[in-house]
Amino acid sequence: MTNNSQVPNPAHIQADSMLARRFGKETVNYFSSSPLNRLSFLRSDHPFLSAAIKHPSTQFVILKDLAPLTKSPAALHYAKYDDIRKLVPNTIYDKSEEDIIKEYDSRKTEPTLIFLGLDETRKQDGLAWKIYSGAPYFALDISEIGSEEQRANAKDLASGFEAQGLSFLQGRVTMTLSANEAAIYAQARALTDWNTRNTFCGTCGHRTIAVNSGTKRACPPTDAARLAEGKPAEKPACSTRTTLSNLSFPRTDPTIIVAVISADAKRVLLGRSKRFPPNWYSTLAGFIEPAESVEDAVRREVWEEAGVTLSRVIIHSTQPWPYPANLMIGAIAQVSDPALEEISLNHDPELEDAKWFEIEEVREALRVGAGNLGEKPGPGYKEGGLRLPPPTAIANQLIQAAIDIDFLASDKNSKM
Ligand SMILES: [Zn+2]
Repeated sequence: MTNNSQVPNPAHIQADSMLARRFGKETVNYFSSSPLNRLSFLRSDHPFLSAAIKHPSTQFVILKDLAPLTKSPAALHYAKYDDIRKLVPNTIYDKSEEDIIKEYDSRKTEPTLIFLGLDETRKQDGLAWKIYSGAPYFALDISEIGSEEQRANAKDLASGFEAQGLSFLQGRVTMTLSANEAAIYAQARALTDWNTRNTFCGTCGHRTIAVNSGTKRACPPTDAARLAEGKPAEKPACSTRTTLSNLSFPRTDPTIIVAVISADAKRVLLGRSKRFPPNWYSTLAGFIEPAESVEDAVRREVWEEAGVTLSRVIIHSTQPWPYPANLMIGAIAQVSDPALEEISLNHDPELEDAKWFEIEEVREALRVGAGNLGEKPGPGYKEGGLRLPPPTAIANQLIQAAIDIDFLASDKNSKM
């Protein structure tokens, strides 16, 4: 059973402030609140990265086909530089980014190493660099990709780890890691996946290379492999090189997810998709479309999927969802008039059912019926009772907030 210890301890300062008094405690969702300081401005600093990969405090999160290397379903295994040196030469950051692009040769490939950040709680034994110190964290993809040599080395590494009793945690969605490690893995997975999917330039179709320690990709203007074919090293023109920059950036796709409350605030609207096991319901969700505000996307999705017309929408909290690159923007919304609460599944047939649930039934389900899809309910659950997502899912947090009397009382007198 998933429990609340998996919900992150906020990494931010939780002190009294006017905003905190007005809006209450910030909800921190699973996969967010990473313990690492990303220090994004150091990603192109090759002397820093070169020192960081070899430092004894450095931790490498290993992924193979996006599955994380783990000691147990709750804990990642962190490799040391010596474990991976076969795949990652210690000269990898010797040249500047500019020179790497200039000397690009598509016959040679290197694994993608992503700098995730510094664990600043480890100042004592960590790496000190200018005014920053801590244990550096990197993600390394050891999937069998790239040149023949790279594939062979990746394969050796994977079997070496497995021989030590470690395993690559399989599963469609990994929700068993501790909250801190889930946030680290989310960053590693999202960026590794993006690099894997963007090996070719979206404009000219030629190969791209990772720069900025795996957080950007460049379309190099020349390729030494062309010289070997008797062609000029210059590649055909690509407009990504003549415009502002020759880089492409990782994407984050925003989606909305919403807990809807009735006009009298006594019921919550939930829906179920065809793939849910019996008795399972959740909040409604969908992608935000180009040129659409978050609030409009919430109103559109709820009307399209359930036929319910919303009035006021507020944003509650957000959850990074690295499957593959979503940011779930969690909202709570209300219907202004009981006449607009009538459910219709006839517009978009995405949901199998949508239903208004009394708050008492939802409260009971949060207590005894919440868990991962397919997981057994807690003690006290009565057969046939409502099942809901676990606290690691933002849906659960939104439902909790939506039925929280204090939350509603604070705005009781203002016009929605
Ligand atoms: Zn290009």
